[in-house]
Amino acid sequence: MSAGPIWPNGAECAVVVTVNYDGESVERGERPEGELWGRYSYGRYATQTGLPRILELLERHDLPATFFVPGWDVERDPDIVQDIRNRGFELAGHGYLHEDFSRLGIDEQREILARSEAAFETVLGQRPAGWRAPGGLMTAETRGLLAERGYRYDSSFCDDDLPYRVQTEAGASLVEIPVFQTASDSHYYTKRRSPDVVERAWRTEFISVYQIGGLFNLTLHPRGDFGSGRAVRLRAVDQLIATIKRYPRVWWTTCGELAEWAVAAGDAIETWPA
Ligand SMILES: [Zn+2]
Repeated sequence: MSAGPIWPNGAECAVVVTVNYDGESVERGERPEGELWGRYSYGRYATQTGLPRILELLERHDLPATFFVPGWDVERDPDIVQDIRNRGFELAGHGYLHEDFSRLGIDEQREILARSEAAFETVLGQRPAGWRAPGGLMTAETRGLLAERGYRYDSSFCDDDLPYRVQTEAGASLVEIPVFQTASDSHYYTKRRSPDVVERAWRTEFISVYQIGGLFNLTLHPRGDFGSGRAVRLRAVDQLIATIKRYPRVWWTTCGELAEWAVAAGDAIETWPA
């Protein structure tokens, strides 16, 4: 779908910062709990070092953001997750142990979603309203399952420039908020790209998106291996945000607000079967 001037308050472009809080659940999904040492300790870096840095950066720039957190990490570090919420940021689901949903049957998917929802309910007092597939991996049934369980949005697909609505045969619906690998840190840093290269790539991507009136979904991870948690990499994020702030008509928003806007957008956006 081609973009146009569809955003609220005369904005030319929407920007959402999404943070995939991939903590120790990533390693814990592969190793027993007593073996998260050596190079299996990067999950702790996310929690202890990367996350506080990202929070400080967002608050210094006075920006909203949506954090996707696996249920296991919610239970592991309840104080940290409550702190993210208390600072005014949005929290959403991201599997329980960062599972690969593309390898799971629908019953297993339902079970894992329920486990993650229970973790949110216990620690935050409410179920998540949004979801992002761990690793972006899911099956044809996953989005319908999310809609039936009352999720208002998913942010995992890469098939459009703009948010769109999804409807199941049974009439349940949700909003898809597309993600873009070229606007995520992990796809660059798994290849050990330099932060200067990453910042330049993001900047060019943003300017192109702004020119077509699209959505820039900046996806960050607090980790030190494939994320932006290290100081030199966070500087690249800082520089990108400073660039974006020089553009006058940007709608800085959250996934929840985008979902709300998409429900009310009428014919300005499309509706597809789940
Ligand atoms: Zn993840």
